[in-house]
Amino acid sequence: MSKNKIVILGAGESGVGAAVLAKVKGFDVFVSDKGKIEKKYKNVLSQYDIEFEEGKHSEKLILQAEEVIKSPGIPDNVPVIKSLVQKGIKIISEIEFAGRYTNAKKICITGSNGKTTTTLLIHHIFKNAGLNAGLAGNVGQSFAMQVATKNYDYYVLEISSFQLDGMYDFKADIAVILNITPDHLDRYNYNFQNYIDSKFRILQNQTNDDLFIYCMDDKVIIDEIGKRKILSKTYPFTIQKNISNEGAYLSENNIIINIKSTRFIMTLEELALQGKHNIYNSMAAGISARLFDIRNDTIKQSLSDFQNVEHRLEYVATIHGIEFINDSKATNINSTWYALESMDRPVIWIAGGIDKGNDYNILRSLVRKKVKAIVCLGVENKKIYNAFADDVETIVETISASDAVKTAFNFAEKNEIVLLSPACASFDLFNNYEDRGKKFKKAVNEL
Ligand code: ADP
Repeated sequence: MSKNKIVILGAGESGVGAAVLAKVKGFDVFVSDKGKIEKKYKNVLSQYDIEFEEGKHSEKLILQAEEVIKSPGIPDNVPVIKSLVQKGIKIISEIEFAGRYTNAKKICITGSNGKTTTTLLIHHIFKNAGLNAGLAGNVGQSFAMQVATKNYDYYVLEISSFQLDGMYDFKADIAVILNITPDHLDRYNYNFQNYIDSKFRILQNQTNDDLFIYCMDDKVIIDEIGKRKILSKTYPFTIQKNISNEGAYLSENNIIINIKSTRFIMTLEELALQGKHNIYNSMAAGISARLFDIRNDTIKQSLSDFQNVEHRLEYVATIHGIEFINDSKATNINSTWYALESMDRPVIWIAGGIDKGNDYNILRSLVRKKVKAIVCLGVENKKIYNAFADDVETIVETISASDAVKTAFNFAEKNEIVLLSPACASFDLFNNYEDRGKKFKKAVNEL
């Protein structure tokens, strides 16, 4: 006999994974997606004999649920969610659901930027150390699907604030908060504190047996820690001062990680991922690995042979001495700040798209120092114009990747850089940031 009814809203990677897990655990499962469901996901649903609908949310069926698993992309203010809340039906995220069915150790990474990179770094080290580790969250196959079909001892999980919002009983064995800067404020009533609270849910249910790794240079994180009673053992990382407790810091050109009376040392030049932000990411990954007693030489090897991730400060090509870099994943101000900060030559900066409440003032001094011209790639560019009109001589508008690339190429001279680092979401002109990055690369390769 079937167990209670679980409804899944959204049939993307996480929703379909949750549906499969619910099905194999014997629930009566129904999947509803307001948009069109991709063919590959429909095939999985059919294969597991899971009922679904697309193009609508039939409230009559959905409101029969005992519990609802909501995909992270669905905001709280859509009618079906309001109806569920009104009826008092519990709404959880896929990570919360899947967490109930595994005893594996969970290393959970959140932050406004660097989640994917750090999650992949940690997983890379774990694999090289021979640990049986799965990789999930916002990257690759969903956590729920892996819990349903695989048997890992460890999971390295990238967890967004939207996933965290639907998490209640889940507990991270290791929680990592990389940084907190304004992002997605449209989903948090334009209240930064709501977003901070969401990020700190990564610590909920942790006890003094659990571990918390965080960036000590991030004032938002430090202030928030000051306001809370944190039970977990804490491991800070910093590039601004030396620390004597366990954690990571920078000494001249070396990363030092002190954990369990063992010292790990590695020079910055040896890191595969360059740029200040990646020192932080590498430190967070190194601490996580040391906490599981992974050998220093394995960590060092892994941090130095890691392959960069597509669309994150990705080198594309050098044409007539002009270097092209694809940082399409930079969808907020902070990530673009680090991109510009790491540029060592004059930049033609391609920016714009859908603004999520950006404060461009934060970028102005870097732009004055490094940017020669701005090529806007977006439908609405007034804010960018207004912000930087006094800082750069040339600002032009384009509405396709190929136009943007050609225009930037015309402005650039030998030994300069064309950087796509939009600081904005991509949905005005592209399907998503991957589509934007791929079209940029294609345009570069066609020059
Ligand atoms: P996320 O998964 O949190 O979006 P990614 O690793 O995909 O993070 O990187 C997103 C963007 O942020 C890229 O442009 C990348 O270069 C930049 N970035 C990566 N790590 C950091 C960091 N620690 N701080 C700020 N920006 C970062």
